[in-house]
Amino acid sequence: MKILVSACLLGLPTRYDGRSAADERVLSLLERHDLIPVCPEQLGGLPTPRPRCEIYGGCGWTGKERVLDEFGSDRTENFLKGAETTLKVARLLKVDLAILKSKSPSCGKNFVYDGSFSGRLVPGKGVTAFLLEKNGLKVFEENEVFVNNNDLL
Ligand code: SF4
Repeated sequence: MKILVSACLLGLPTRYDGRSAADERVLSLLERHDLIPVCPEQLGGLPTPRPRCEIYGGCGWTGKERVLDEFGSDRTENFLKGAETTLKVARLLKVDLAILKSKSPSCGKNFVYDGSFSGRLVPGKGVTAFLLEKNGLKVFEENEVFVNNNDLL
C-alpha cells in the first residue's frame, strides 16, 4: 500500500519545536508498505522551529475557523496552503490512506487543542485531516492503526 504519513511520525524533525515524534510502530510499516512523509505546516510555508498554533473556536477545523499562533498572528492561510498541497501529493501519488499525528492543528483527526493554549483538548479535526477526509481519503491517527490487532495494514 501507499500511505501518506505525517513526517514527524517517521522521525523527521518537522515539529514546531524542531523535534520529531518518531513512532516505532509507524516506522515498522516500512517493511511492507511505501510510506510518503509530508508535513503540512512546512508545505504551507511555515518555518521550523515555529510558534505553536491552535485552531481558535474550540471545535477544531470545520472550514471557517482561524488558526492563530501563540503570539496572536493569524496563520490560517499557511494551514490552508499546507492542507491543499498535502491533498495534491496524495492525489499525485495515488495514496491508499493517510496516517497522521494526533492532536496537531494540521494533522489531528479526533482531538485538537481548543485554541486557548492551555493544553485543553476538544473533539475536532486539524485542517489537513479535515480536507483529506472531505476529499474521500481514509485518515487514521497513529494510535488508531495499531489498536486491537487492527488488520488494516
Ligand atoms: Fe507533524 Fe503534521 Fe505537525 Fe508537520 S504539521 S510536524 S507532520 S503533526
